[in-house]
Amino acid sequence: MALGEFDLIAKYFSRPAQQAVLGIGDDCALLQPRAGMLWAVSSDMLVEGRHFLSTVRPERLGHKALAVNLSDLAACGAQPVAFTLALALPKVDEVFLAGLAQGLFDLAQQHGIELVGGDTTAGPLNICITVFGEVPPGQALRRDGARPGDQLWVSHALGGGIGDARLALEVFRGHAALPGDQFEQLRAAMEQPQPRVALGLALRGVASAAIDLSDGLVGDLGHVLQRSGVGAVVHSAALPMSAVLAAQPLARQLECSLAGGDDYELLFTAPAGHADAVRAAAAQAGVGVCCIGQIDATPGLRLLDAQGAALPWTPRGFDHFAA
Ligand code: ADP
Ligand code: MG
Repeated sequence: MALGEFDLIAKYFSRPAQQAVLGIGDDCALLQPRAGMLWAVSSDMLVEGRHFLSTVRPERLGHKALAVNLSDLAACGAQPVAFTLALALPKVDEVFLAGLAQGLFDLAQQHGIELVGGDTTAGPLNICITVFGEVPPGQALRRDGARPGDQLWVSHALGGGIGDARLALEVFRGHAALPGDQFEQLRAAMEQPQPRVALGLALRGVASAAIDLSDGLVGDLGHVLQRSGVGAVVHSAALPMSAVLAAQPLARQLECSLAGGDDYELLFTAPAGHADAVRAAAAQAGVGVCCIGQIDATPGLRLLDAQGAALPWTPRGFDHFAA
């Protein structure tokens, strides 16, 4: 007989409370914020067919569901503490559940955070996580702090870049082809993003504004520009790219890196005098950073090619309701 709702929770998701005053099993979890700290709270939902393909391995799905949430805490410079998990499942598939829980708890353990509650229901596969993190008052990285003269930076995996997840998706869609080993490398970027939590923490007091790249660089940068009331110049030739993406035709390179989405890198601004501190923060976090442009007072985004001429087109960010 299939596991019931409460047995399922007990078997796959219930763990003894660590830092929580009260964890899974009551009507609410009870958390004690450290003295003087603010809670940073964010939710992200993953819907099958929209945010992931049915071909994804459950371990990777568990990883990604938590990673995209941790990426939001990273973009705020918050220290992750705990999370909740709301799950809609079409059926009780224990192989799937075991894999999902494995991917989820492996990443949770890497960040020293615990699952404190959630909800479980039958329905189309849907995974919604809410993360809770701590940040000292006044130190959160926000979207509204970019100022004219600031440099614009993007993080990347050492030896990697942005746009790989989108290129993997293009291969899945049959719009591009890659040799097997290259496809596996990009597929890992798409299915197992690494949230830049350590970088976000190291950028407190260094960056002036930050956002994580989930919907494509152009669209996400647009949010920072709008909230900050500034404009920007981006040098497309400075965008960090993996060797695999750099071997693609130029139009695809630009589409993937500027409008790709699912990168989960940090896009941030910092005063020019903080450039050494930015590089030190990245080195401390074990990631790469690239300066890709500047903030100015002219509203809007100006994309330049390698010769400094305006790019003839502007890719748009991803919008679930416009797509
Ligand atoms: P309630 O009906 O009071 O909202 P439930 O009966 O749905 O609570 O859940 C029982 C307990 O199990 C609660 O503590 C809830 O937070 C927890 N829980 C339910 N689903 C999950 C899940 N997917 N992951 C973690 N905890 C869960
Ligand atoms: Mg209740």
